[in-house]
Amino acid sequence: MGFLLINDITLRDGEQAAGVNFFPEEKLAIAGQLVKLGVPLIEAGFPIASESDAKSVNLIAKEFGNNIIVCAMCRANKKDIEVAAKALCGAKKSRIQVVMGTSDIHLKHKFDMTRQQALDISVAMVKYAKTFMVDVEFAAEDATRSDRNYLKNVCKACVEAGARTIELPDTVGYATPDEYGFLVSMIVKALPEEIVVSTHCHDDLGLAVANTLAGIKGGAKQAEVTINGIGERVGNAASEEVIMALKIRKDEFKKDINYINTKEIINTSKLVEKLSKIKVAYNKAIVGRSAFLHESGIHQDGLLKSPQTYQLIDPKDIGLTGYQLVLGKLSGKHALKDKLKKLGYNLNKQEMGIFAKYFKENTEKKKFVTDDDVINLVEKFKK
Ligand code: MN
Repeated sequence: MGFLLINDITLRDGEQAAGVNFFPEEKLAIAGQLVKLGVPLIEAGFPIASESDAKSVNLIAKEFGNNIIVCAMCRANKKDIEVAAKALCGAKKSRIQVVMGTSDIHLKHKFDMTRQQALDISVAMVKYAKTFMVDVEFAAEDATRSDRNYLKNVCKACVEAGARTIELPDTVGYATPDEYGFLVSMIVKALPEEIVVSTHCHDDLGLAVANTLAGIKGGAKQAEVTINGIGERVGNAASEEVIMALKIRKDEFKKDINYINTKEIINTSKLVEKLSKIKVAYNKAIVGRSAFLHESGIHQDGLLKSPQTYQLIDPKDIGLTGYQLVLGKLSGKHALKDKLKKLGYNLNKQEMGIFAKYFKENTEKKKFVTDDDVINLVEKFKK
């Protein structure tokens, strides 16, 4: 089993989602919940961006920096690094992440720089960050749209300058899984073995989690993810999806993330949903409200015989009490009987047969059947 570092970046990239603003005490609360979840590394913010964010990073560094690595993001300039280093003061385990574009699109339109100039600045700023702390990460922004040879050279030079982690962001969600897996493996091969290569994937084409997993297969030893997948535009690879994929398909990915307490997934998702004010989609993988609801009769019958038939994940594993059977026009007699029993009604076989028909006739036009609907119908039926 290989080791994989989950780096939760909800407090940085997650906060960059349009309309999200975590206040310092809210960031502290989310960080506390991430610690309960067992995450060993969090990117807490972008201190130069605002005084409030510098304060948040400092609060988190002081409160949790003895137990987990607290990381702060910087652009490749001295001021960003100085402010970040100051904000991280008080943490035993801290990390500075230096971000610099490597794609020609970014160099030309954003920085108006040549490749050589950008490489020189990256190296100089990694060296500068190293004067504040040993743990420095370099992020090659827009890595997936960068010239591969140039990207390789920048990564090598930044490692020589002291970076211990190299992050390969798919900044605009451009990559496909095969491509991203290949890119990661290419960079892993080009660098010394002790250097950690990290994924960082966006979901513009709905591929963030698939790309992250492909990157892990390609040799990445760190994955940057956000709770509920919140982040720039449509977001990042979702922490809970990557975590559960690695856990359920251990046979496939062979990564040990036993340090994660998956039973805290729902609590973490709910807290981030509440404080970000971004509602989790009803049918979102793992944490969506319908993830453990079953309405079709065939599935309900199977589940009542054994949950393994139609439920990949044990809801208890992520902190829920169990799966739920929902009644509707597609549900069957077994679930109806089960529901009636739970509501305190015991119908014999003959009654059940007639009631099931009566129930169907009366619920065909309903979008959703509640417990009260069932009680009303069974009471009417008994009269
Ligand atoms: Mn990002």
